[in-house]
Amino acid sequence: MKTLIIALNSKFIHSALAPWYLKASCGPDCGQVLVLERTVNENQDKVLSSIYLHKPDVAAFSCYIWNIRYVLDLASSLKKLLPATTIVLGGPEVSYCAAEMLRDYPFVDFVLAGEGEISFPGLLSLLAKRYDNRGTDEMSGSNDRSGGISCVPAGIDSIEGIVYRSGSGITEARPAVVKDLDSLKSPYTEEMISSLSNKIVYFEASRGCPFSCSYCLSSATAGTRFFSFERVCSELDKLVKSGVKQIKFVDRTFNANPERAKGIVRYILELNQQLTGGETAVCNFHFEVGADLFDDEFIGLLSGAPQGLIQLEAGVQSTNEEALAAVCRKTDVGKLLSNIEKIRRNGNIHVHADLIAGLPYEDFRSFGKSFSDVYSVKPHHLQLGFLKFLKGTKLRDEAEYYGYRFCDHAPYEILAGHDISAEELIRLKGIEELLERYYNSGRFMYSLDYMIRSFFNSPFEFFERFYVYNRDNGHLELPSSVRDLYLILYSFYQSITVLPGKSGAVVKDNDPPDDAVSGGPARNAESNGGTNSIFCELLRLDFLASDNSGTLPEFLQRPVTAEFRDKCFKFLKNAPLINKLIPETTGMLPKQILKKVHFQQFFFGDSSSLSMGRDSSALSTGRDGSSLSTGRDGSSLSMGRDSSALFTGRDGSSLSMGRDSSALSTGGDSSSLSTGGDSSPLCMGYDPSRLFGAKGPSQHDIDLRCKSTVLLFSYFSRDKVTGRYQFYKVDI
Ligand code: SF4
Repeated sequence: MKTLIIALNSKFIHSALAPWYLKASCGPDCGQVLVLERTVNENQDKVLSSIYLHKPDVAAFSCYIWNIRYVLDLASSLKKLLPATTIVLGGPEVSYCAAEMLRDYPFVDFVLAGEGEISFPGLLSLLAKRYDNRGTDEMSGSNDRSGGISCVPAGIDSIEGIVYRSGSGITEARPAVVKDLDSLKSPYTEEMISSLSNKIVYFEASRGCPFSCSYCLSSATAGTRFFSFERVCSELDKLVKSGVKQIKFVDRTFNANPERAKGIVRYILELNQQLTGGETAVCNFHFEVGADLFDDEFIGLLSGAPQGLIQLEAGVQSTNEEALAAVCRKTDVGKLLSNIEKIRRNGNIHVHADLIAGLPYEDFRSFGKSFSDVYSVKPHHLQLGFLKFLKGTKLRDEAEYYGYRFCDHAPYEILAGHDISAEELIRLKGIEELLERYYNSGRFMYSLDYMIRSFFNSPFEFFERFYVYNRDNGHLELPSSVRDLYLILYSFYQSITVLPGKSGAVVKDNDPPDDAVSGGPARNAESNGGTNSIFCELLRLDFLASDNSGTLPEFLQRPVTAEFRDKCFKFLKNAPLINKLIPETTGMLPKQILKKVHFQQFFFGDSSSLSMGRDSSALSTGRDGSSLSTGRDGSSLSMGRDSSALFTGRDGSSLSMGRDSSALSTGGDSSSLSTGGDSSPLCMGYDPSRLFGAKGPSQHDIDLRCKSTVLLFSYFSRDKVTGRYQFYKVDI
């Protein structure tokens, strides 16, 4: 008997874990078991053909919200082509509606409810017996409509978690749970590992979650079960040494047991140390965490990881206590946000935070507050998700009580509710799109931060107004090119009007905010310097730190003199300096280096209140004037609270500044890279009233006030946390 386990992943880069657990669980009595991994983005006919050509006796599909529609269409066609093939469905999307699946889809023969590592081999061994004894009558049921082996084999009622048709209708079963995880065979066989090239590998150190958020399927199974620490370490060791590039833990809350989680992180750090010497990351580990469960020891441990070794995904969902209580989510919101900020500030770990729109008692304004609260701690990625009503969850049962309407089909997303209207959700969908384009892309780190801080009362207010601008100008209808995004943001900047009388109050023309105040003649933002404004300087900087073409969008270009070009080339001829600054240039000729770098002159104004740094909050005022840094988006030239800590170079030792902030030197040639007399490496004012005075500047003012700063952008490699290119302030 030949069984094909079919996994339809959502992207090519993803891999499947469940089919390999199932395959590993099958013994010789199950017959031949194969795994076929494809994606839902592939043409369905092609996938159907591959399955058909295998001529499987059993086709088992792994079902999730992202593939259920595809699976059902595929399985239906397969049954028409191969009526004798037994169709088995399993996975979270069918576990809590198994009887319904059998009732609604006649081509489905069996459904595995819950974890399948025991029930699946149990079913296959019974079917294999039936296959070997075809022609003999040992069946207890009579649903063999096809002449195949799909009828109910004797003994099936002794196997936990199998739902099937029987003479009396549908025999149901509770979702199966594997009690002892260490009893499971490892899915990471040579065959599985060889299928992983360039893909994300999924890994679990535990199953279940100790929490019980009512919208989450993990709350449907009580308790958390763990693989032994030794097994986790030995499998990680095997995977890392096999050369995989990313290991994504699927543990629902990786640090539910903080001490155990620390132990695993310690092991990963040691393994990395052993394999790389600790300077670089051997691969990337992704964890979903409860960030409020971190203590200082854990944060200290994380801070010792090299850039790119670890990334964290922290669910926040909302900062509205009433909304969180309504979905039984216990979170210390203050601690959670402060921990995200602490970890992000260390600059070595990519932090992803999740929000859910549509929770009970969270109306549009309340969501705006949650959004701004989370945005303010500057995770590298902020995911705006929408409430889903998953089968098997408590919230789905409570949907009527809260007046929710949601989609009939997966992913069962909210359409409207008592607390949030369809129009408001549509608005949030638009904001989500802009969040992806402008914040999560990481391309607008400084310009976005500057715009929000200078002109808006909150991040959400900016996104709301920017959404209206994009909608009204048709920018959300079609995808925009990356260069178009810069132009759109600039056009929006031109369209906003500063209202004196309220710090930072800005309205888009024709769409004043409810709480707008007036207090004198309004100014158009464009009058603040147009393409020579601080905003546009930051837009230029953002572009060059994200795009290695070295060619600015047309509207941001400015003439470059032959003299400037000559000076830049001369700078590249200083081998000791350029090699120290960018080690990858060692052994390269200036002409070759020129192809991988870009020099740009900036005019940032005259204020010490702005900083850029490794801290991806990117632009901060540092009230105490202590935070001034630039660099590898931070690491290469930075000055923290302790003014003695200005350094560059990977080892942090090559460029240092003592308490005297004018004494910044590269050692070899102290004149070539320095903060010089102007002891602020990169300082830009952004408070329009302070920078430009009440009337706003003229072009002449800017020329007089602004000191030229030259930045050198290196396109040798991207920052492993922000994905941006590093840059250096240079004196040429
Ligand atoms: S949302 Fe997260 S914390 Fe809550 S039950 Fe699900 S997995 Fe656990």
